[in-house]
Amino acid sequence: MRLIGIDLGGTKVQGALVEDGEVVADAKLATPKGVDQVVAAVVECVGRLGGAPSVDGIGIGAAGVVDAATGDLVRAPNLGGFDGRVPLLTLLTKALELPASTSLVLDNDVNAAVVAEHRLGAGRGFGDVLGVWVGTGVGGGLVLDGQLRRGPAGGAGEIGHVGVALDDGRPCGCGLIGHLEAYAGRSAMEAEARRRHAAGTPTRLVELAGTKRMKSSVFAKAVDAGDMVALALLDDAVRALGVAVASAATLLDLEVVVVGGGLPGKLGPRFVGRIEQAVRTRLFLRSSTLSVVPATLGDLAGAIGAAVLAA
Ligand SMILES: [Zn+2]
Repeated sequence: MRLIGIDLGGTKVQGALVEDGEVVADAKLATPKGVDQVVAAVVECVGRLGGAPSVDGIGIGAAGVVDAATGDLVRAPNLGGFDGRVPLLTLLTKALELPASTSLVLDNDVNAAVVAEHRLGAGRGFGDVLGVWVGTGVGGGLVLDGQLRRGPAGGAGEIGHVGVALDDGRPCGCGLIGHLEAYAGRSAMEAEARRRHAAGTPTRLVELAGTKRMKSSVFAKAVDAGDMVALALLDDAVRALGVAVASAATLLDLEVVVVGGGLPGKLGPRFVGRIEQAVRTRLFLRSSTLSVVPATLGDLAGAIGAAVLAA
């Protein structure tokens, strides 16, 4: 079976051609702004991997909440120009000029990555897997009894928007208060670092990033240099992840949680180990065998998972 998976993220469109479970080619381009431009970029990426007629199915994992009933992207704050509901599946079906023999599916990008980690990566062999993706924001995906759980509104597994603080907590990008993402998302951590810097606590984070985006590599460098603000923000992030993941693990009696995304990728396995410690001290069942492990498929996880979903 030949499948194409596309990871449509805020910064790049990454594609993989998967043949009988093996990645045989991949392609990458920058994500443009605007709905028409993004649709064209996906068509271009599929073309570089051989085109729609050459495969049995195409899966797209997009950075946003997907309405499974309609294939609309309901909420996609990290895709420029995607305001409100966008009928992405309909637009792509038309633009890709799909032959009747090629299927097309659309899902959330982190859902796709978690499916890939469940089938082929760090969550292999487990019936239930919670994936927590720490990047610009905090995304999540939930596999229960081997099946991706979507929920009627498409929001199952969105651990970034569970509460870790009461009403005096930090504001979250979604408009609510005290969510995990407000403490552990790179974008929220950047805002907090800049606020502290401007209020008189200088930090290497701002010195290294300047006016540009504070990338995960900047956090890694500032931590290595022993920067107090960077260390404090990461402590908060680890504690917030500990609270949220322990709550989810207690609710579902989970055995494994896979942590992926840009920040753990740059900070390394030690960061994931710290999260595991923070989770363990908060678990209700002391007998729990829960382990918190790093994702193993790297950058291509989203594309591979999208291909798996297309099968
Ligand atoms: Zn939120």
